[in-house]
Amino acid sequence: MADRFSPSERAAVMRAVKSKNTTPELAVRAVLRRLRIGYRLHGRDLPSKPDLVFRGRRKLIFAHGCFWHGHDCARGARMPAANRAYWQAKIARNQARDTASLTALSQAGWSALVVWECETRDPGALADRLGTFFGCGSNGSP
Ligand SMILES: [Zn+2]
Repeated sequence: MADRFSPSERAAVMRAVKSKNTTPELAVRAVLRRLRIGYRLHGRDLPSKPDLVFRGRRKLIFAHGCFWHGHDCARGARMPAANRAYWQAKIARNQARDTASLTALSQAGWSALVVWECETRDPGALADRLGTFFGCGSNGSP
């Protein structure tokens, strides 16, 4: 697949993400700035307060920490040794709430993208995903 960015834009995307890759949300925001896609933070009136809201496009992004939202990856599987049952229950509640919010948002006509923390470590792949999400909208999601 052809790179959707010129080499200089690609370098800027890489730099922007690398320098601010402290949380998944910041990584996503850095890529969005490079793509010149405007966003609002934290839709308080929407289910589950999505991290980034694009009202005109009726699109949302959730930037999820792998541990907190129970991602199916190495980081998501790592549980603290202490209070394991507590954390497992808490994360299970988060996952149930995430699923319910995505369903509610989808029924309300919003198109939502979940970006996991571990996925933000590859800025090129992240930029491609976001570009697809905002480009034609035909990224295969139902
Ligand atoms: Zn993950």
